[in-house]
Amino acid sequence: MRKLNILIAGASIAGPVAAYWLAHAGHQVTVIDLSNGLRNGGNGVDVREQAVPVIVGMGLAERVAAGSLDTKGFKFETCRGSAPIVVNLRALQAEVGYQDFEIPRGDLARVIHDATLEAVDYRFGVAIAELEQDDVRVRVLFTDGTNGEYDLVIGADGLHSGTRRIVFGPESKYVHFRNFYFGFGSAVSAVGEEGWARFYNKPGRSLTVQAFGERGDQVHFMFRADKPIVYDYRDVDAQRDVVRKAFVDDNWFPPELLTAIDGEDFYFDSISQVKMESWHKGRVVLVGDAAYCASPASGAGALLAITGAYRLAGAIAQDPDNPTAAFCLYQKRQQPLVAQKQKALFTGITVPSSAFTIWLRNIVLSSPLARMLSGVAPKNVPTLEEYDFGKAG
Ligand SMILES: Cc1cc2nc3c(=O)[nH]c(=O)nc-3n(C[C@H](O)[C@H](O)[C@H](O)COP(=O)(O)OP(=O)(O)OC[C@H]3O[C@@H](n4cnc5c(N)ncnc54)[C@H](O)[C@@H]3O)c2cc1C
Repeated sequence: MRKLNILIAGASIAGPVAAYWLAHAGHQVTVIDLSNGLRNGGNGVDVREQAVPVIVGMGLAERVAAGSLDTKGFKFETCRGSAPIVVNLRALQAEVGYQDFEIPRGDLARVIHDATLEAVDYRFGVAIAELEQDDVRVRVLFTDGTNGEYDLVIGADGLHSGTRRIVFGPESKYVHFRNFYFGFGSAVSAVGEEGWARFYNKPGRSLTVQAFGERGDQVHFMFRADKPIVYDYRDVDAQRDVVRKAFVDDNWFPPELLTAIDGEDFYFDSISQVKMESWHKGRVVLVGDAAYCASPASGAGALLAITGAYRLAGAIAQDPDNPTAAFCLYQKRQQPLVAQKQKALFTGITVPSSAFTIWLRNIVLSSPLARMLSGVAPKNVPTLEEYDFGKAG
């Protein structure tokens, strides 16, 4: 098999997983990231369903399990003083024999990055400035003035992908706003309860706190917006102002939770989805959120990033001399999972839009119908295909 020189933009989840498997197949891989180092933030993300065998295949199951959060379930506050509605998700999932790993996003990125360090070349603080391709290679000019030539370029650079903008056109063609915003940060509070996600709701808004021992309390902010809010999405202080404005005027949650907005690990973005007819053009291909973001409200970001990266690397390993055939195979195999997860957002449960729907949600969750939530543990998960990662040389 011919050894390829491959550039990957994005060192979060999808990029390093693709890098691992491509390097495993003997290819030369460079990963770049716009940030000055590995980014740490993010709440617990789920390594679930077909992502589990990929992580097992990378030899990382023990490290991921060791870093996992001990999530027991949800408690929905009704009004101050009344008992919350308790959904013991762990017990519901145990009934159907389901297990997954929930791990802080930054920790997952670190575990995968560390597993690739020896075989992959990482460069931080740099992005693609210009890109030109023909039938045999891709020429790249980087933002630091250096340049390189590659057989393939993979854009794993997230919802606001620069690779997608340069090769496929403006973000507005592909990114679809789903009427919510999501923020996350850490705080110290008296209300966080070990392992339980405690929800405070007002119509169109939810604030959730979850305690994880020494890791502190994780706070999630989610709110509805009829149209996109105008702010500079790369300016973290501007992001903080957006969340503060949405939550500062009330007393329906413990006020110390707002300190999470000022935390260093604060993360904020719209709940948006990426929809593209084709994830590839010539020798350039997209993977993870860059190609098919389902949003944090799908709970499937890590699943889709890990499985997509594995399938892309597997398809390239299978057909290294025919990128178009490899990229078509990857998209064909990954698309059904993406379509399924993009349809299944949980904002209806976590952020009901009116006082009536909050009341209705609480009635349903305090009845035996809460069992529906074990549906987040699908019973018949299709087996992930195996690929021949025989060494290139
Ligand atoms: C700091 C951070 C915190 C997050 N927190 C959460 C969370 O709390 N909950 C949740 O559900 N999801 C969160 N996400 C998103 C989640 O990681 C993804 O939905 C999912 O895991 C898919 O990963 P990905 O690798 O495709 O994209 P992402 O995780 O978005 O990673 C994209 C990477 O590309 C880099 N990048 C961006 N632009 C460029 C460029 N032009 N050139 C090179 N590199 C670039 C970014 O720095 C980042 O490292 C977070 C992402 C980040 C980066």
